[in-house]
Amino acid sequence: MTDSVDITEYLAIDLRSETWLCRKCGHKIGPARRNYKEGLLLANRDPREIHNPVVAGEYGFAPDPAWCRIVEFYCPGCATLVENEYLPPGHPITHDIELDIDALKAKYGAKGRAAKPANKPAAKSPARSPGRAKGARR
Ligand SMILES: [Zn+2]
Repeated sequence: MTDSVDITEYLAIDLRSETWLCRKCGHKIGPARRNYKEGLLLANRDPREIHNPVVAGEYGFAPDPAWCRIVEFYCPGCATLVENEYLPPGHPITHDIELDIDALKAKYGAKGRAAKPANKPAAKSPARSPGRAKGARR
């Protein structure tokens, strides 16, 4: 059993240790109260490598590398591409997921037991005979 809660296709949070995890390999990425991207490997890609030129010449419809960089974030454990973003050069990485860890713990109950959605059993109601049900017609 695990105390992890899936957050995205490739990210989960272990609520007990408050750690970001890779869903593919289980690598501990970093503290869940911080930006998960700080624990991933970065590749700073030239947009011309990714956007093949549509036309020959200087202007091939790829973003200008002087104005745009493509940052890819990889899991250090399994090299899964977790996220990517287009940023102006020099722009800090974005902090796109900030979760209320305390609220998640309250919801999933991560104090030493497996995290599961709170599936409460239906409240027991007194047995009704069909004839006594509200709105029942005879
Ligand atoms: Zn991984």
